[in-house]
Amino acid sequence: MDLSYTPEERAFQQTVRRWLAANVPKKSREERPMEWGDPRRIAQAKAWQRKVWEAGYLAMGWPREYGGQGADLMRQTIVNEEMVRARAPGLIGMMGIQMVGPTLIQYGTEEQRRRFLPKILTAEEIWCQGYSEPGAGSDLASLRTRAELDGDTFVVNGQKVWTSNAQYADWMFCLVRTDPAAPKHGGISYLLIDMRSPGITVRPLVQMTGDAGFNEVFFEDVRVPRANLVGGLNNGWQVANATLAHERNMLGSTTRTQQIFQGLLRLARTHARNGRPAAEDPVVRQRLASLAIRVETMKLEAYRQLTDALRGRRPGISAAVNKLVATELNHDLAKAALDILGSYGPLARTDRRARDRGIWPLDFMFSLGLIIGGGTSQIQKNIIAERGLGMPKEPRRDAAA
Ligand SMILES: Cc1cc2nc3c(=O)[nH]c(=O)nc-3n(C[C@H](O)[C@H](O)[C@H](O)COP(=O)(O)OP(=O)(O)OC[C@H]3O[C@@H](n4cnc5c(N)ncnc54)[C@H](O)[C@@H]3O)c2cc1C
Repeated sequence: MDLSYTPEERAFQQTVRRWLAANVPKKSREERPMEWGDPRRIAQAKAWQRKVWEAGYLAMGWPREYGGQGADLMRQTIVNEEMVRARAPGLIGMMGIQMVGPTLIQYGTEEQRRRFLPKILTAEEIWCQGYSEPGAGSDLASLRTRAELDGDTFVVNGQKVWTSNAQYADWMFCLVRTDPAAPKHGGISYLLIDMRSPGITVRPLVQMTGDAGFNEVFFEDVRVPRANLVGGLNNGWQVANATLAHERNMLGSTTRTQQIFQGLLRLARTHARNGRPAAEDPVVRQRLASLAIRVETMKLEAYRQLTDALRGRRPGISAAVNKLVATELNHDLAKAALDILGSYGPLARTDRRARDRGIWPLDFMFSLGLIIGGGTSQIQKNIIAERGLGMPKEPRRDAAA
C-alpha cells in the first residue's frame, strides 16, 4: 500500500482545493440536511451537483462518452477527500451516481447507457430504488410485485415500501417478478420505470425524525417498455446484487464518516461542559480518542481496498464490511455528540441559536435507519460469515422452492 501522491496528483489536489474554496456555498456548512420535498432545496441541490459535474469532479471514473472523465480511481479519491475538507454539500443524485449508474455501465444496453447516464450526472433526472415490499426486506427474493409481458410492454402491478426520495424522483430502478413459477431467485427482473407513468401512486411515510424521507409506491397496470429491462428477462437477481454492492459501498463511505467525526470534534471544542470546552474533559477525550482510532482504521481499510482495486483484485465481501463498519460507527459518533450535549441535546433541534448542533438529534435517528437500509447489520454479518469466512450457511427459507 502506497499512501503518497505523485507530483501530478498533488498538483491536481491543489487545483481541486482552489475550486472548492471558490465554489462551496458558505451557508451549506451550517445548514441542516435536506428537507425532503422542499422544491427550493431540491433546486439548490441539483444546481450544486451540476456545478460539480461541469467542473469535471463527478463520477470521474465513468467513460467520457457517458459524461464521465475516464479518470483513474486516485483522482476520484482525491476529490472525495477534498470535499470532506471543504465541508461541501452532499449530492442529491447519489442513487443515480452510485447505484443505478454503475449497474447500467456493467449490465445496461448501449441505448440505456446513452439515454440515462448523462442525465444522472447533470441531476436532470433523480432516481429511487424499488426493492423492498411489505413482505420482502431482508428476504428480498420474496418480492411479489409482478410484471407481465403484453407485446413489447411490461404491465406492472404491486407495491413497494420504504422507497427513499420517491416523492421527487423521476425514475425508479425496480425489481419485479416476471416468472412466478420459477424458484424465487430465478423469476425476478430489473426494470427502469418512469415515475410519471399513469398508474403510479406515491404516499410519503413519516419517519421518527419527523420528516417524510421515504414512501409507499403503488403500481396499478403501469406500462413499461421492454427496452427498459436491464440484464435480460429473469436475470434480475444478479443485476440487483450488483446494485446492492454499490449501495453498500455508498453507505460505507469513509467520506461521510470523516465529515461526521469532524463535526463531533468541532462540537467538543465549542460546547461547554462544567464551564470548560467538552474537549478538555478527560472522559470525553478518551471517548473521542477511541472513536478517532475507529475512523482512522476505516480510512486505512479504504486505502487498502483502493490499492486492491488499482491492482485489479476482486473486491470480495468488502462492500458488506464497509457498510457494517461505517453505519455502526456513524451511529456511535452521533451518540457521542448527544452525550456531549447532555440534556440540551433534544432541545438543540428547535433552538435557532444552536446552528449545526441541531443536526445531532436528527443524525442520531437517521444513522440508526442506515444500519437497517441497504441490508441490516445482521444480514451483513451473515454475508461476511458465509461468503467471507466460509462458515456454514443458514438454512434457506426457500429451500423447498
Ligand atoms: C432509512 C431507510 C431507507 C430505506 N430506503 C429504501 C429504498 O430506497 N428502497 C428500498 O427498496 N428499500 C429501502 N429501505 C428498506 C430496507 O432495505 C429494509 O428495511 C431492510 O432491507 C430490512 O428489511 P425489513 O425492514 O423488512 O426488516 P426484516 O427483514 O423484517 O428484518 C427484521 C429484523 O430481523 C433481522 N433478520 C431478518 N432476517 C435475518 C436473518 N436471516 N438473519 C439474522 N437476522 C435477520 C433483521 O436484521 C432485522 O433486525 C430503507 C430502509 C431504511 C431504514
